[in-house]
Amino acid sequence: MKKILFVFIGLAAVLACAAFLSEIPRHRYTYIVVHHSASRNDNHASIRAFHAREHGWREAAYHLILSNGSAQVPLGHLEATDRYGQMGYSPATKNALYNLRGLHLCVIGNYEEKPVPANLQGPLANALGSLMEAYDIPFENVVLHKEASSTACPGKHLTRSDLRRWLDGNAAACPPAVAAQQQLVIREPLSARTFLKTPVVRALFSFAAAGIAACGLAATRNAANRS
Ligand SMILES: [Zn+2]
Repeated sequence: MKKILFVFIGLAAVLACAAFLSEIPRHRYTYIVVHHSASRNDNHASIRAFHAREHGWREAAYHLILSNGSAQVPLGHLEATDRYGQMGYSPATKNALYNLRGLHLCVIGNYEEKPVPANLQGPLANALGSLMEAYDIPFENVVLHKEASSTACPGKHLTRSDLRRWLDGNAAACPPAVAAQQQLVIREPLSARTFLKTPVVRALFSFAAAGIAACGLAATRNAANRS
């Protein structure tokens, strides 16, 4: 009986380790691709509806959306799409490499028409810097949509040199409450809480609990038989 219990516990431990290793959040991102919405007022919900209507996609094309303060989302706040939570593929460009390996960040606004507002430069720099740090992506791998495929996106007023300058100087100008909101959204898929909620981990906890209960029952029976 004891042997069977040891085999059972050993098997549970091996399965737990395998599942743990397979479930450690891994990401596919080696690039950050920057877009604009080419619109004045938008948010995650309106872009998702637009992409569903225009392309039949189940979700907005991007992973993260940075608000310009329009459409009921505070300026500088990030909205995560399902693609971000699932670390999924993006159909945002016509370039398969950047769609597969890129983390797509869309800044609300039309930067072909107008410069990025001064009060959005700090939040944009902070979001970009935080993403580069969280996913260990160097600035060389931050690309504009127009560098991935033929398009004007993200507009002539949002260039790589602007991004470099804002990263160097304006990130600190991001209001602390906005920086905290961005950090919360960026870290969510990498957090232990998300990991513990995954179905495999939940099933394993149930399996381990059942194993412990069975062991307890067997030990009680053995003790009863001996007495
Ligand atoms: Zn784009």
